[in-house]
Amino acid sequence: MNNLIFVLNCGSSSIKFSILNPKNRKKYLSGVVECLFLKQTFITWKYLGIKHTKNIGAYISHQDALIFIFNEVLSKKQDLYKNIVGIGHRVVHGGKKINTSVLINDEIISFIEQAIPFAPLHNPANLIGIKMVIEKFPILSKKNVAVFDTSFYQKMPKTSFLYAIPYIFYKKHHIRRYGAHGISHDYVSHEASIMLNQDFNSLNVITCHLGNGSSVSAIRNGVCVDTSMGLTPLEGLVMGTRSGDIDPSVIFFMHQKIGISIDKINEILTKESGLLGLSGITSDFRYLEKNYFIDKRVKLSVDIFCHRLSKYIASYMCLMENRLDGVIFTGGIGENVSLIRKLTLSKLYLMGIKLDIEQNILIIHGKSGLITLNNSIPVLVIPTNEELLIAKETIKIVS
Ligand code: ADP
Repeated sequence: MNNLIFVLNCGSSSIKFSILNPKNRKKYLSGVVECLFLKQTFITWKYLGIKHTKNIGAYISHQDALIFIFNEVLSKKQDLYKNIVGIGHRVVHGGKKINTSVLINDEIISFIEQAIPFAPLHNPANLIGIKMVIEKFPILSKKNVAVFDTSFYQKMPKTSFLYAIPYIFYKKHHIRRYGAHGISHDYVSHEASIMLNQDFNSLNVITCHLGNGSSVSAIRNGVCVDTSMGLTPLEGLVMGTRSGDIDPSVIFFMHQKIGISIDKINEILTKESGLLGLSGITSDFRYLEKNYFIDKRVKLSVDIFCHRLSKYIASYMCLMENRLDGVIFTGGIGENVSLIRKLTLSKLYLMGIKLDIEQNILIIHGKSGLITLNNSIPVLVIPTNEELLIAKETIKIVS
């Protein structure tokens, strides 16, 4: 047990953490806090092969959840502590200044702070994790590494990342599409190249990361050439609480005709929309899946989610030139909800995608594999492992 990395991934509504050896992929401890800020926040973690689950209260914040992780989960594990050589943090947005993984210092913290307007739900959560860890583990304070989601999108062409607004807003104010979830798209596309036995540099895939935040990326010849998230993670697919694409005029209408303040509109579009806003009940897909055939509003919200996802996948096919090697599903929803995969992929039959209904039902809960028939463009479910990619980047930098 040596050269361990502690990985912390503070998301918008969840916190994932693990202690692992990136060289042999061995995980010593791993866990996730889910449903932050909802009625029931719960944590599950696995240590020495034993799984623990605990309800940690109602409307729990990132700070409270991290204190629980430090005091209840990580405490008294000296054998692990003394072998940790670095701490890797997932950071969603590097802003205009950072485009690669870096050792965290005060200047980097300030760059991450400056990028908050580009990732208002995520960078603040990432910073809470960074600051609390530096305070909790002073011996390792100079061994914290930030791994950015935006790094994966550095080679996107201008045709994808520029908005059709006056050019000056890009040149002077850096308004452009930056993308998010890059770590996950990066990881699953590399795994896909192994599973499809195709050299990464010639791999053409469309990757769908579907979680509380959701995004699609088009990867051509191993380079990401488009993605659905934009200046911020608000653009694109229908998400847990985010609207994704809307006509910008909706904002003017809400402000000028209904009298809602700009700050409130921001809150509506980021925290009260998406599956939560449409269903009127929850953004939690466990509930939505169970009630799809029971509750009409739930059905409608899930149908809208799949409608938009299928449109994105179909439109990204035109970026592939002459060949599409596969479509990948990942993230909490992509990995577990066979209903979503079925509803989305059935709309893509004309594009050459033919679902294997049985395989689609079987491949859930951390399994990976093919869910299409032999005469189809392959669709693969690949559980994401952002932690592993972060750990690999971290060990490279700290050593
Ligand atoms: P985040 O963006 O916070 O990392 P995740 O990738 O963990 O999100 O995905 C969270 C979503 O996945 C939630 O909608 C959750 O309900 C859904 N989800 C996770 N596990 C399951 C499951 N076993 N069955 C159905 N939905 C699930």
